[in-house]
Amino acid sequence: MKLFNLKDDTEVVSFSQAVKQGLGRNQGLFFPKTFPKLDNVDELLTMPFQARSAIIMNALIGDELGEAATTELVNNAFQFGAPLAHITDNVYSLELFHGPTLAFKDFGGRFMAQSLVKLSDNNPITILTATSGDTGAAVAHAFHGLDNINVVILYPKGMVSPLQEKQFSTLGDNIHTVEVDGDFDACQAMVKQAFDDKAVREELHLNSANSINIARLLAQVCYYFEAVSQLPKDKQDKAVISVPSGNFGNLAAAMIAKAMGLPIKRFIAATNANDTVPRYLLSGLWEPNKTVATISNAMDISSPNNWPRIEAMFELGLADKSLLSAETIDEDYTQIGVRQLNELGYVSEPHAAVAYKALKRSIAEDEVGIFLGTAHPAKFKETVENILGTPVALPKELADVANKDVLSDALPADFAALKEYMFKKLG
Ligand SMILES: *Cc1c(COP(=O)(O)O)cnc(C)c1O
Repeated sequence: MKLFNLKDDTEVVSFSQAVKQGLGRNQGLFFPKTFPKLDNVDELLTMPFQARSAIIMNALIGDELGEAATTELVNNAFQFGAPLAHITDNVYSLELFHGPTLAFKDFGGRFMAQSLVKLSDNNPITILTATSGDTGAAVAHAFHGLDNINVVILYPKGMVSPLQEKQFSTLGDNIHTVEVDGDFDACQAMVKQAFDDKAVREELHLNSANSINIARLLAQVCYYFEAVSQLPKDKQDKAVISVPSGNFGNLAAAMIAKAMGLPIKRFIAATNANDTVPRYLLSGLWEPNKTVATISNAMDISSPNNWPRIEAMFELGLADKSLLSAETIDEDYTQIGVRQLNELGYVSEPHAAVAYKALKRSIAEDEVGIFLGTAHPAKFKETVENILGTPVALPKELADVANKDVLSDALPADFAALKEYMFKKLG
C-alpha cells in the first residue's frame, strides 16, 4: 500500500510507516491515491464478518505484511459483531457498540493497536494520550495486555464521569492512568510538550495513536460491508447510509467501502449544531464556528480533522460529491429522535438519534436507510434517562467496572512532573 501526504505528495510512505508515524510533514494526513476494486462483492456479502474483513484488509494493505499476518490482525481485532437492527419498514440501525468499551471506536482502536504491535518488531513503544472520556477507554482496552507497549493516559481530575474513569483506569498492567490537576487543555499541552522533548520522544519511543491514524480508518471500512450483507438481498443495492459525524473518519470509511465496490446508493453526513460541513456543502465556504456543547458530545467538533481525506476522494475521482448530502440536527430534534425510536421499541442515544433524524428528513420511498448506532445507550445513561424518563440498564461491561478500584496516579499540571513519572515508571 502506497500513501501520500495530502499536504505534500512528494512524501510517500508504506502502510507500516503511516501507522507508526501518524502524521506526515506539515501535519499532513496520509492517504492513498487509489483503492483496490473488489470484483467478487456478491460472494463477499455471503461470508462471515471476520473472513470477509480479512479479504478486505488484505486487498487494502496489499502484501506488505503478508496475508497470514494481516488476517491475524483482523481476527485479533474484530472479536465482536456489528448487528443490523430492523427498526421499521425501510429503516435499520447498524449497531457498532458491541465491543469492550461499547462504542464504534473499538473497531479502529483495536486494529490500530494490533498493527502497531506487529510493526514494532518487539521494540518497546509508549503510547501517550490525553482524554476527556471516551477515547481513553477505547485506547486503554485496545492496548491492554499487549507485549512491549506501555500506555500513559492523562485525564483532567474531576471532569470525567465516574463510570468513564473506571472504564480506563481499572485495567492496570501496561495501562498507566494519570489524574492531572488541571483541565483537558492542560493535559493536551503536557502531551504536546512530551512529543517536543527529544529525550522522552526517543528513549521512550512515543507514539500518539490518535484518531487520524490510517489503520483506524481502514479497519472501519469492514463494517459497512457487514451492514449491507445483513440486508435482504433485494434491498442490498438501495442503501442510504446516515453517519453521525464529528471528525468525519466514519464517513470517510463508508466512502472508501463504496470506492472498493460496495453498492451503497448515497451518503448523509449528520451533524449536531457543530455544522461546518453542512454549511460548506451548501455554500462552498469553509467557515468553522466556535465549537458548541451538545448532548451528542462526541460530535462537538467544528474543524473535523478527517475532512481533507473526503475532499481528496472527490478530487481524485474516488467518490462522487453529488452522492453526499448533509443535515444539521439541533438539540430538540435530537431528543425527539431518541423518543421516536423509543416509541418504535428501540432504546437509543443522542449520536444515533442525530443520524436517524437526518435519515428521516431525506430518505425516499424506494430507498433503504441505515443509520449508525455509534455508542451503547448506557454510555449516555443520564441524558437518555432524562429524555425518556425511564431507567437505562447498565450492560455487563459497565456494571463490572463499576465495582473495581481506580488505579490512577495523581500529578500536577506540569510537564517536568510527567517526565519524571514516565522515566520512573517506564524508563
Ligand atoms: C467519535 C464518535 C462519533 C464521531 O465519529 P467521527 O468518525 O469522528 O465522525 C460519533 N458518535 C460517537 C458515539 C463517537 O464516539
